[in-house]
Amino acid sequence: MPARKAVQLLIKARWIIPILPAERVYQDCAIAVSGGRIVAILPWEEADKQFTPEQSVNLDQHVVMPGLVNCHGHAAMSLLRGFADDYPLDTWLNQHIWPAEKAHVDGDFVRDGTELAIAEMIRSGTTCFADMYFFPEQVAKVARRAHMRSQITFPVLDFPTNWGEGPDEYIAKGLELHDEYRADDLIRIGFGPHAPYTVSDEHLQRIAVLAEEMQAPIQIHLHETAQEVEDSIAKYGMRPIERIHQLGLLTPQTQCVHMTQIDSTDLALLTQSGAHVIHCPESNLKLASGFCPVGQLIDNNTNVALGTDGAASNNDLNMLGELETAGLLAKAVAGNPAQPSAHEILAMATINGAKAMGLEGEIGSLEVGKAADIIALETKHIGCRPIYDIASTLAYNNRSLSVSHSWVAGRALMLSSHLQTLNERDIADKANAWSKKINRE
Ligand SMILES: [Zn+2]
Repeated sequence: MPARKAVQLLIKARWIIPILPAERVYQDCAIAVSGGRIVAILPWEEADKQFTPEQSVNLDQHVVMPGLVNCHGHAAMSLLRGFADDYPLDTWLNQHIWPAEKAHVDGDFVRDGTELAIAEMIRSGTTCFADMYFFPEQVAKVARRAHMRSQITFPVLDFPTNWGEGPDEYIAKGLELHDEYRADDLIRIGFGPHAPYTVSDEHLQRIAVLAEEMQAPIQIHLHETAQEVEDSIAKYGMRPIERIHQLGLLTPQTQCVHMTQIDSTDLALLTQSGAHVIHCPESNLKLASGFCPVGQLIDNNTNVALGTDGAASNNDLNMLGELETAGLLAKAVAGNPAQPSAHEILAMATINGAKAMGLEGEIGSLEVGKAADIIALETKHIGCRPIYDIASTLAYNNRSLSVSHSWVAGRALMLSSHLQTLNERDIADKANAWSKKINRE
């Protein structure tokens, strides 16, 4: 009998949804992990014959899938959750969010807010998040400490904020941060020009040149509302996406967040450029910004990934809720209940997110060779019985499931519903202290 091979971790699951190959579900199989990577996916009995694991986790009531990829958010804004609800985007930003940020945002706010956000994201199944916020050096430090995978795009705007005087200072600080994390295996730094209406042509162009040279991702809020598009036509004689295209900013490295307003020329530009759309349905619904035509984008071969946006406009960072909303809304907008399917909805929240960030070789599916970014969800709740199709349960009834385990690159972030890299009580105390401070203003 051949000797059994030592591995770091063996996860035995009732169901595994690997995402790739597409539309597949493995039953009573195990995932073997070594050196932070998936080395085998095979039936339980085979796994016992082949491997001696350092750690073995039996999840016979669980579904296991790749960790969810949250492609857009402003993590620290979790400290402003519920602070200003029920306003239109313009009023919300100008009269509430920006003044509150001016009064309170500093390195400590971003550190504590990001910790709060990451704790919530781990609990709801996210293992990789994209962030665009001030003091990104604090975001990177917290993400590192929590062992969370992330893409951090430093913000660039034409006006001063608590983080700097203007675009030149933001870019200089961002480039320094990029250098600092150049060799990091979990954290990738990119450019976050806030939106076409807050950044000049000159700086958008400079970002395009730098991002191309550095092969760094770009994330930008784009076509969030009809007003944004109308204002751009009045000011520049063209739609915002056409303008950023002319400035060289629309590339396969570009992540266009929101895109609720899309005409046929926009569709063609997205297809030609290979840029990605980050759909944030709950933020768009809450701010009544419009509806992203997901079905049309998919038909035109544009990659659509999902994001929660910040907790101030959602009001949670729960990607399970987001993927369900995205799926239902896409069907309603397209008038087609068949598209997207349950498996396609799960793909938007995993492999499509990995593609948008240029990480599809590393994460987004459970395949041999990929990083072991894995979550498990418990299926004990009466509300999910019977289970005919576990992908359907995950896409349309996931409130009956609870995320119990989470690993990033093979390291546990949560085991049996206990966070392993963050102190939840401490995080909650700090959030309460911030709310008292912010409420006094
Ligand atoms: Zn946003």
